[in-house]
Amino acid sequence: MTHAHDEHPILNQLDTAIRAQARTAALANTDTTAQAVRALLEAIGEDPTREGLERTPERVARMYAELTAGYYVDPEELVNDALFDISYDEMVIVRDIEFYSLCEHHLLPFFGHAHVAYIPNGRVIGLSKIPRVVDMFARRLQVQERMTVQIADFLEETLSPKGVAVVVEGMHMCSMMRGVKKANARMVSSAMRGIFRTDPRTRNEFVNLVQRGEHL
Ligand SMILES: [Zn+2]
Repeated sequence: MTHAHDEHPILNQLDTAIRAQARTAALANTDTTAQAVRALLEAIGEDPTREGLERTPERVARMYAELTAGYYVDPEELVNDALFDISYDEMVIVRDIEFYSLCEHHLLPFFGHAHVAYIPNGRVIGLSKIPRVVDMFARRLQVQERMTVQIADFLEETLSPKGVAVVVEGMHMCSMMRGVKKANARMVSSAMRGIFRTDPRTRNEFVNLVQRGEHL
């Protein structure tokens, strides 16, 4: 039996726990989702029984469970044992975090890079956790602006830092594929908290560090 994540290598980046949770949800709901996909195929004039589409409904059902796995992540568990009390107050920045999400208006992908920075106030989070925080909010039905704010708010609540900055660049398939507002297919959104909001020098330092990357 082929599993969705075998067909989509990018999904292998999800950690095992997240996949296991998504799998549980998939098993619970596969039949309902597959039926809906079958109905969708009929509604667009396709024949769900033809050879190429025969297994598509089940495949799509498993895929959606994985692409929305972020709903099943326990945020407490995610950061658990990765918070450290350290007196370090320089900017921590993680750049070019790849993300894949689904636009909630069209159920089409938007994807790109997130850049996350914070200035600690006695507490830091393991660096490897920041991409997983991004993943948790990306792997669900989203709008880019909300995802950006959620990442910033989550880090602010978890770390009580002096400031948090999040910049997200996304390419939106719903704009690109439909030939509408193509010029706006690439979108940049940002959320600034604390010192990144109040101190232009800190904000500029972050923006300069991000702009050194090739993606902005
Ligand atoms: Zn859309």
